[in-house]
Parts: sequence; structure tokens; C-alpha cells
Amino acid sequence: MSQHTAFGVSSSALELDSYRDLVAKQQPNWSDREAVAEASQDLASQPPLVFAGEVDRLRTRLAQAARGEAFLLQGGDCAETFAGATADKIRDRVKTMLQMAVVLTYGASMPVIKVGRMAGQFAKPRSSDTETRDGVTLPAYRGDIVNGYDFTPESRAADPKRMVRGYHVAASTLNLIRAFTQGGFADLRQVHEWNKGFVSNPANQRYEALAAEIDRALRFMDACGVESSALNQTEFYVSHEALLLDYERPLVRIDSRTGTPYGTSGHMLWIGERTRELDGAHVEFMSKLRNPIAVKLGPTATTDDALRLIDKLDPEREPGRLTFITRMGAEKIRDALPPLLAGVRDAGATPLWVTDPMHGNGITTATGYKTRRFDDVMNELLGFFESHREVGTFPGGVHIELTGDDVTECLGGSENIDEATLATRYESLCDPRLNHMQSLELAFQVAEELKSLR
Ligand code: PEP
Ligand code: MN
Repeated sequence: MSQHTAFGVSSSALELDSYRDLVAKQQPNWSDREAVAEASQDLASQPPLVFAGEVDRLRTRLAQAARGEAFLLQGGDCAETFAGATADKIRDRVKTMLQMAVVLTYGASMPVIKVGRMAGQFAKPRSSDTETRDGVTLPAYRGDIVNGYDFTPESRAADPKRMVRGYHVAASTLNLIRAFTQGGFADLRQVHEWNKGFVSNPANQRYEALAAEIDRALRFMDACGVESSALNQTEFYVSHEALLLDYERPLVRIDSRTGTPYGTSGHMLWIGERTRELDGAHVEFMSKLRNPIAVKLGPTATTDDALRLIDKLDPEREPGRLTFITRMGAEKIRDALPPLLAGVRDAGATPLWVTDPMHGNGITTATGYKTRRFDDVMNELLGFFESHREVGTFPGGVHIELTGDDVTECLGGSENIDEATLATRYESLCDPRLNHMQSLELAFQVAEELKSLR
């Protein structure tokens, strides 16, 4: 804390540092505190990545979803890497999200809020602090913003300079996202173009048929003289797990209009399943920020946990402020989710409820691949919609680990990726992602569910 008071910052900054007295789980063991302070000063002197006005606008969009008038599509890598921040890969991820959003919007006749797990999704919680290979034990890989993936002592040492690099990679990623989504690429008239370059398969063909319908509707609108800027630009927001507090804290800025602190590392920030204790540093830190905040809830979360998180993070119960992302597992969701939904509703709270059908469904194959079955993902997704139907609450969104690349990381889907195929293109350094086609298939399924709600 002294480091900040030394600069003579206001009392609101002191309040922002209240988390420093609490236990922060899942932080790296930095060996050089001075280098952390240097990185922190560097980050504190950089421009914000996102702006208060954008963050506020996303909050109003999420409020719509919490009321049942919009749907959240949140997706991207489990762990972004510095090497993976290339123009092609970013473009293909954005294209995949745009395609999914079109399928959902057209299918469900509902606005879709697009939020990438992008431009900052670099820090990973791990089940163990160390990793052992062939009798050698080294620190676990905690994401590119902390250490390297290569299994050597040099690479696995936590390096604070990586936080500054992470900021710059996030900035160039965001720059490209802004260009793609504001500069004509996201024009709905490009709806066919987004499908170009992806291998032909059933999901892509289904998408092409839908794109043709959209084309026809657009030509009709043109003929009627309808002009709308909504057709040639799209709002696209970025989000990540705000895990690494030495990165997040220096990127907080006080909004000059209102004097309120905003986390400017991303529009929406979330707290992971492993760091959501009420008396932990993450919940305390995020409670001070004005951003839309999400919290992951696993199968052990109780109604009381949820209500106490609401009291701490959203005491005003402001729609759009708080999102619960449930990740129960396909086997558990139908038992675990309905009582949680009912308990929160009965307490008069209206958070946005989103499903993450990925993180409760991890398995490891005999050959050692971390994977997920597409069928389990779909099963949890259906369980999410069933649970909300049962309780009468609104299933407000999906949170997916995906890529625009044709990787082979999750089993199944219409390409029927089997265990032997996993090895052919497994690129994730962390959790397995849906590939382009599996992502589209999922979007079509969600669109069906949303249609049946109307
Ligand atoms: C993640 O989203 O990559 C993640 C680690 O999720 P969870 O906190 O739900 O386990
Ligand atoms: Mn993950």
C-alpha cells in the first residue's frame, strides 16, 4: 500500500488498495519485488485500454440481457498467448464470433452482445503451483503474462516485465478488433465473407443458407430505402479473468467525469471459480470498480454464497452490474442450478445468468490429452435452458472457449473428432477449445433454444 500512498494519491486510491490486506490466491511467486514495482509504474503511466463510456454502455447492454431483452455471447481462448496474437488468428476469432452472433440474432430475433475473451485473457489459475516432468519439478505455467510455457527453469520463472508486454499485446489486439468491427469488415453485407477460408462442412453450409436469407432481407431493406449504421458496424467488447492483481491494479483509472474507478484492462472483468471467496482479495478489489463484473459459480456454490456475492459486488442491485457464469458440469446442472436460480430470485436480485458449459466438463484421455466432449457441452447447455424454464428466469448468455481455427481439441461434433484425431491439431496451452465448426454448431443449437422461448 505504501507504494501508492508515497505518491500522495487520494483517499479513493487508498480504498482501491484495501485488497492488499487480504489473501490473494493464484498469484505468481515474483522473486524480484523491485521489478514488480517498476512494471507497475510503467503500466500506471500507460493510456487506458478501454474507456469509461464504453464500459458504461456495455453495462446498459448487459442490463437488457438481465431483463430478458438481449443475449450475451462471450467467447475466446482459454489462454491467449503472445505468439498467438497475429492478425490472422485474431481475425478468425472475431469472424467466428460474428458468425455465431448472426446465427443467434437471426434465429432468436434478439440483440446479441458480443464480448471476446480477448485482449487480456493471459493469466491462468492452476490446480498446482508446480509441475513435475520426468522427476523435474518447476513452477506451473501461469499464462504468458507471468511466465513461459517451455519447461525450463528460466522460462518458468515469473517475470514482471511480461505484464508490460501483456499490456502492449492487449493494445494491439484491441486495435485490430476495433478496426475489424468498426471499419466495414463487420458490415452485415459481409455476412458471406465471414465464412470464407473456413473448410466446407455441414455447419458452414447451414450458415451459408442463413446468410443467403439475410442477404435477401438486406436487399429488401435497401429497396425500401432503410438506412442504418447498425448494419455496417458492430459493438464488440473485451473481457478477461482479472486474476493477476499486479496487472489489474495499475490499470485502474479514476474517471474524470464522475470520480469513479474503472478497471481499464478490459470492459468486463470476471472472478474465477478458484478466487471468489468473499473475504479474498479478488472480490474486495473488484467491488471497488465500476465495470460490469462476472463471477464463475461451480457446482458447490450455494444460494447463500451467491447472495453474499451480490451484497458485496452489487449492493445497489443495479441491472447489468453483476453476471453469474455457472459452470456446473453436464451431470450436475439440472440438480445444482434450479435451487440457485430460485434462491436468488426469491431474494429479489436480478443478476444476468450465463452458462459456461466448458469448465465443468473436462476429461483427460488415456493418452494424456485434456479434452471435453462436445456432447457434454451441449448437454450442459440444454440443462441451462431447462433449469431456467423450470424456475421462470431468463437464460441470458453463453460463455465459451473457442477459436476460429480448425483445431482438434474437443471430442465429437459433426466432424466426429475422436481420441486418435486429437493429436493432429491440438494447440491450446491450457483448456481445449471448440473449433470453428463446433462453435457454429453450438450457435445453431442455442438459437433453437432461444426461439422456443419466444
Ligand atoms: C477459465 O475460464 O478459463 C477458468 C479457469 O474458469 P473457472 O474459473 O470457471 O475454472
Ligand atoms: Mn479455461
